[in-house]
This record gives sequence, C-alpha cells and structure tokens, in this order.
Amino acid sequence: MVSWDEILARLPSEVREVIETTRAHNRWRRETINLIASENVMSPLAEAAYLNDMMHRYAEGKPRKRYYQGLRYVDVVEELVMKYMGELLGGAFIEPRPVSGTIANATVFRALASCPSSEGRPKALIAPVQAGAHVSHTKFGTLGALCIEHIELPYDPDNLNVDVDKAVKMIEDVKPVFVVLGGSLYLFPHPVREIAEAAHSVGAKLVYDAAHVLGLIVGKRWRNPLDHGADIMTASTHKTFPGPQGGIIATRQEDLYKAVSRIVFPYFVSNHHLHRLPALAITALEMKYYGEAYADQVVRNAKALAEALAAEGFKVLGEHLGYTRSHQVAVDVREYGGGAKAAQLLEEANIIVNKNLLPYDPPDAIKNPSGLRLGVQEMTRWGMKEDDMREIARFMRRVVIDGEDPAKVRKEVVEFRRNFQKVHYAFDVDPTENGKLLLLY
Ligand SMILES: *Cc1c(COP(=O)(O)O)cnc(C)c1O
Repeated sequence: MVSWDEILARLPSEVREVIETTRAHNRWRRETINLIASENVMSPLAEAAYLNDMMHRYAEGKPRKRYYQGLRYVDVVEELVMKYMGELLGGAFIEPRPVSGTIANATVFRALASCPSSEGRPKALIAPVQAGAHVSHTKFGTLGALCIEHIELPYDPDNLNVDVDKAVKMIEDVKPVFVVLGGSLYLFPHPVREIAEAAHSVGAKLVYDAAHVLGLIVGKRWRNPLDHGADIMTASTHKTFPGPQGGIIATRQEDLYKAVSRIVFPYFVSNHHLHRLPALAITALEMKYYGEAYADQVVRNAKALAEALAAEGFKVLGEHLGYTRSHQVAVDVREYGGGAKAAQLLEEANIIVNKNLLPYDPPDAIKNPSGLRLGVQEMTRWGMKEDDMREIARFMRRVVIDGEDPAKVRKEVVEFRRNFQKVHYAFDVDPTENGKLLLLY
C-alpha cells in the first residue's frame, strides 16, 4: 500500500499546500473545544452523503417541474427533504432551496414586501438588536438591500427580551407589512403568540427566524413558532440543527409557500447546491430518531456551563432568569480586557468562541465588545455532558481570569478533547468501512 504522504510527494508543491492546509484545519478542529454558537458538525454518514455527483448539477425549478433533464434522483431526494423536515416541524410546507439562512430571509422578506414605490417604502418591525436580531434583519443587511424600512421593536432590559406591551402598541401604530422575531444572541424565547396576535390585527405577517434554534425546535426543547402564531419560519440548517450549511423556509400556509417558491428561484438562487440535499435528509432522520435526546442534552449543557462559569467567577448574563433556555450562554468579560482579548487568549488555549456585543454595549463597540457568546451544541454532539461543561468553565477561568499561560492550558484541552471523537445522536455506522466511502459510486 502506498501511503498518502508518498502520493502527496508526487504532486506539485502548490497542490500539497492546499491539501496540507485543509488537513491541518481538520486535525486542529478535532483538538479544540468549539463553542461558536452558530456551528455544528455533521455525522460521518451525513458527511459521506455530502460528497456526491449532485454537486455538479443544476436543478432549476421544483421537483418534477425542472428546466433541465437528468434529475430523476435529485427530485426524489429533494422531496424527501421536504417530507422529513415538514414532519419534524409538525406539518409544514418546506422550501429547501435557499442556500443559506440569509437567502431564506431575503426570499421571505421579498415575498412579503413589494418594491418601494411613490407610496413609500414598506415597513418591517424587527426584534430589538439588543435582544439578538441578526444583521440580515436590519438596514445594514438583507432588509436594507431590499429597501425595506427597518424599525426596531422596543427592548425590555430586565427580561433581555422584546418589551411586549410597548411592542404591541408600536405594531398597532406603525402597521408594518411584517414583523420579524428570532435572533443570533438568543438566550430566551421571544414572545411569539402576543406579537403574532398584534401583527395579525393590522394585517401584518409574523416571520420567525429560527436560524439558531431549529435543532432545539425539532428536538422539542424550544417552542415551535408555527404552533404559536408565526406565519412563516426561516432557518439555517447547520447551527443547532446539525446538517450541511444551508437555509430553509417552512410555513403551513399554502399561498405563502407558493409565494416564496416563486421568489427563491429566480430571484435568489439558480442552482441550489444540490449535493447538500442527501446530507440534509439524513440529518433530518437523525433528528427524527435522536433529536429529542440531543436537544435535551444541549439545553442541560448550556445551563450547566452558565452555572459553572458563574461559580468560577465570571459575570454571566441573565442570572435572575436562569441564565439561558437555549444552547447559548453570554458572558461579560469587560473587567478582563473585553471580548476581543478574551476570545484571542482562549483561541491560543484551543477554546474557540466569538466576541459579541452585549445588550448594554453601544453599537460602535463592535471591534471590542464586552461579551463572549458561547454555544454548547457542537460539543454536545461530540458527547459532552454536564461534568464536561464544568471542566470547560475551569479551563476558561484559568485563561481569562487567572491569566495562566494559554499554551499550558492548551495541552490539557487537547488531552481532554481526545475523549470526544465520535459524533453522538446519529446512526452508528462507519461509512469508510473497508477503506471506501460506501455511498459514492
Ligand atoms: C446565522 C443567522 C442567519 C444567517 O444564516 P446563514 O445561514 O449564515 O446565512 C440568519 N438569521 C439569524 C438569526 C442568524 O443567527
């Protein structure tokens, strides 16, 4: 048997550099504690299914109504995705073609709001940025690109959430075309039912952006917004939902479904990255069989991490509210030099987090905000439980509070991470058995 190193040695050095860099990334990420709240890993089976010939193809249109030939199997897989994702959401029409959550938002926003005219710009009310609204909900993102007027709902600092009474009043006064809830720094559920009622009373639609919490919703540890009055939901398929990177739209209203389907193609995608569909169908089935156990452990781990960080001396947001009900934890590290410095030091210790604006930070503090945002979903997939969260909190205290040499902590982090090399809550098969990717050809 020729070794990979011998095979690589025959290639031009430029090729070797690309391959070696990618391998280095793969290996390094297996030695890190990844707490980026918007990331996850697919199971080996879903990863194997991701590598398929569909990546070379085009499938403009809907299953069985395509513009090109050659799609008999793509049609089947796309329909399976729509079926399984719809079932996971308690019955819904699924539009799986947006290639990201941002494109899903663009599609829905464009379907609900017409272009600006002499009558003015359409208005959208969005969750307050302090309560986690994503850049795509704002004038700086998709909403702005579509020339929709961005107006923020009022914020309730005590509850770290939308101020319901003031929001209802604002909806009645402004009469927007739609309202957006859901967020990126997202610890506590937004008040869907109350906002839906107010929106509907003025003829507005409620859009719920579940990018972060889709995996918790299908695992029944977060309220399904479609059960509580949201008209339509957008999401990413790779955050708490541990599938391939992509976006999705779900609604129980057939007219809305048809409207978004007419927008996504041809406005926002031409090919829709077909190779992710088999992996998405497999991940949906993983969530069908293991999603509740997974989501349950995610919320337990988030709570355990928050409590452990507080016990180690960190200032964790939302103590009076129980810290978190999602996969996330927010920590104020201002007194240790701010989020940028803490995140950098932690990376040197192989703990990957992102700096984040906290609700009381001014928007221009973006380069060095007070906070860190942590998410436990990926480490939960790798099999970590509450005790492991306490270990992570100790590592973080040593680096950020005690000022220990991160390189020294890194050695222990790498050692610790070695115990978690298998993806849980997934079908227990090795698709590389016998040295071949079973699914390929
Ligand atoms: C991540 C995120 C998005 C964008 O998702 P992409 O798949 O990265 O385009 C949209 N909305 C919210 C609330 C998010 O957190």
